[in-house]
Amino acid sequence: MTDEALFVNDIIDATREGIIKSYSCIECNEAGVSVQALCGNCGSSKLEIKEINNVGKIVTYTIQTVAPDPFVNEVPYAWVIVELDEKIRITGWIPFISSKEELKIGQKVKLVKSYKPGMVFEKISE
Ligand SMILES: [Zn+2]
Repeated sequence: MTDEALFVNDIIDATREGIIKSYSCIECNEAGVSVQALCGNCGSSKLEIKEINNVGKIVTYTIQTVAPDPFVNEVPYAWVIVELDEKIRITGWIPFISSKEELKIGQKVKLVKSYKPGMVFEKISE
């Protein structure tokens, strides 16, 4: 396996353990959370990776009742944009949400251990 593939696997493994890793590019300072081995801005492979807090708040969401293939057995769920405590926004989803009464904007959430696709969050209390 190439270094890039090992690197990507490492981030996917971390996500499954409920760990979020962020990157910042040493060349251009681009920062984010993503499963990638190269900077999304300049293509550099000189990325600094660190583990960050897996807690954030819901910025916006949509409830999915019809889903693409990997999620077909998961409906209904909420597709969410979460702003992490470190001010980085990421997308993920929360299982078993079927109505707007069940999820508020600003709800605190954290990434949980999961072998399902994508980043799975759950509601936590303040
Ligand atoms: Zn860069």
